Amino acid sequence: MTTKKIDVLLVGGGVMSATLGTLLNKLDPSLQLTMVERLDLVAHESTDGWNNAGTGHAGYCELNYTPQNAEGEVDINRALAINANFEVSLQLWSALIGSGDLPAPSNFINTTPHISFVWGEDNVKFLRQRWEKLSVHHLFQGMEYSEDHEVLRQWMPLVMEGRHTNEKVAATRIPFGSDVDFGSLTRNLVSSLEKREEFELLLSHEVSELKKSDDGGWIVKLKNRTTGENKTINAGFVFLGAGGGALPLLQKSDIEESEGYGGFPVSGQWLVCKDEEAVKQHHAKVYGKAAIGAPPMSVPHLDTRIINGKPALLFGPFAGFTTKFLKAGSVLDLFKSVRGGNLLPMMNVGMKNMDLTKYLISEVMQSHEDRMDSLREYFPHAVSDNWKLADAGQRVQIIKKEGTNGGKLEFGTELVAAKDGSLAALLGASPGASVAVQAMIEVIERCMAERLNLGSQVTDWQNRLKEWIPSYGESLIENGELLNHTRKKTLLVLGLDKA
Ligand SMILES: Cc1cc2nc3c(=O)[nH]c(=O)nc-3n(C[C@H](O)[C@H](O)[C@H](O)COP(=O)(O)OP(=O)(O)OC[C@H]3O[C@@H](n4cnc5c(N)ncnc54)[C@H](O)[C@@H]3O)c2cc1C
Repeated sequence: MTTKKIDVLLVGGGVMSATLGTLLNKLDPSLQLTMVERLDLVAHESTDGWNNAGTGHAGYCELNYTPQNAEGEVDINRALAINANFEVSLQLWSALIGSGDLPAPSNFINTTPHISFVWGEDNVKFLRQRWEKLSVHHLFQGMEYSEDHEVLRQWMPLVMEGRHTNEKVAATRIPFGSDVDFGSLTRNLVSSLEKREEFELLLSHEVSELKKSDDGGWIVKLKNRTTGENKTINAGFVFLGAGGGALPLLQKSDIEESEGYGGFPVSGQWLVCKDEEAVKQHHAKVYGKAAIGAPPMSVPHLDTRIINGKPALLFGPFAGFTTKFLKAGSVLDLFKSVRGGNLLPMMNVGMKNMDLTKYLISEVMQSHEDRMDSLREYFPHAVSDNWKLADAGQRVQIIKKEGTNGGKLEFGTELVAAKDGSLAALLGASPGASVAVQAMIEVIERCMAERLNLGSQVTDWQNRLKEWIPSYGESLIENGELLNHTRKKTLLVLGLDKA
């Protein structure tokens, strides 16, 4: 068996690997890149349009990004960070449209107002405070607030239909929010990479083993899932962008940094509207508050989607219990991930999160009518026969060691990298695809620091990153002038100014 030698192996054909491949190709076009995907298509797991909510997460409408402390104070820091990170994605996508690497923006991103909607005295008070704090920051300028039923009816007629005028309600709105078809974005990024000789795509190939090689890189074993043939690759750097499959591969790498990590898989489902008239009447992403005990990613929302160019209306997600790490994975995934080093953290998390377990079981037990009742809180006149249930993607939440025997469950994303910079894995799934560009810049900064040469004089790679992402190296949270300049440009190029 011959071993091919390459610079970078991208494991997984989702948005993360496609973004890293694109950035690396722009930084050094001579790098030999190989992408390995176990399925026969790229972007078919979490990244596929129907498997995620397609919200361009910018903190505009997601109430879980602005938690309240015990004194009732709203903390906006997470929303600011996510917004600034999403701006970084918008900058790269705009530049790639300019260079012809991406097609016209409507193929993957469409203006969809982002609305937060609440009812009841306490929730209205919370939303008003949230708006007062956010709207004075340059990142959130243009955020509208209203408690007026008439205004809200204009913003979201289906949501307001049939509501009593005495009901205390409130909403905020950002007209230039976005719906992103991450599947389409990724397929286009990969197609563009495929035009280069230095890039190879291996579909239906699964990474089965990886071992450190004597030259400091990795010997990676792949199996062709169609023919059963094995292959080995010697890669200088390995990125485990395998979504739910990243944790098992990280464990196989046996790097010191993988110690103590576990995964908690959560499945998802949507109600999809079959009534084309209703689809036409709703044009927004309307996010509410999560139920008590619900994981943050289960915040209910009524969503306009544009998937493969076609409008759709979705409600959910409904969470569920699963032992699979990938939608096309195995029911043994969770059990196979248990190791001596993560058993105690996993048991500890199980015991500490009984609320979550109860919530997931109650979600699984729901009937169609129970789900319709949840939908009617957002769309009071929804008709049961007009909605069908569809499976969304899987998320594997991170379990981490805490103290000697403890564990904690995290709902964000985390980059785990070998200290010699030869391997990195992306774990977790929120805010996910929206911040793929910032997450992949972090991979480059942590694992290729020498090439980027952070901390010394400006290098070639730094200059190139600035060409593709003009705000690179500066804070969009601090620098309002820079934000206004870059946002004006990205909204225009991406067609998001046509709210
Ligand atoms: C229900 C739901 C809603 C979401 N909503 C949003 C949202 O509104 N906005 C947002 O920004 N994000 C959202 N996300 C998160 C987002 O979908 C993910 O963060 C993102 O798609 C992850 O991309 P990825 O490339 O890491 O993983 P994936 O897209 O899952 O790609 C990983 C790939 O690796 C492959 N693979 C796995 N193991 C191997 C192996 N051993 N060898 C070879 N290939 C392998 C898999 O087949 C897969 O194709 C949502 C996710 C879910 C599940």
